[in-house]
Amino acid sequence: MRIESAECGKCGICVDFCPEGLLEKQGFKIVIHDGCTNCKKCLEGCPLGAIKFDDE
Ligand code: SF4
Ligand code: SF4
Repeated sequence: MRIESAECGKCGICVDFCPEGLLEKQGFKIVIHDGCTNCKKCLEGCPLGAIKFDDE
């Protein structure tokens, strides 16, 4: 997954949606740690549609 920076409001909601704990809010940015399984759970949490998957 990736986060489209221009569309992301840095609200941090997606952080709590990742079952692997890979998303981290660091100040005014969201860090994506290695190990993403592309489960798309974080997608459900994003109110702005900023989370993208390259298979779409
Ligand atoms: S796709 Fe799944 S594993 Fe990857 S960041 Fe989103 S919730 Fe976490
Ligand atoms: S939920 Fe969406 S808008 Fe909020 S920080 Fe995550 S990617 Fe950005």
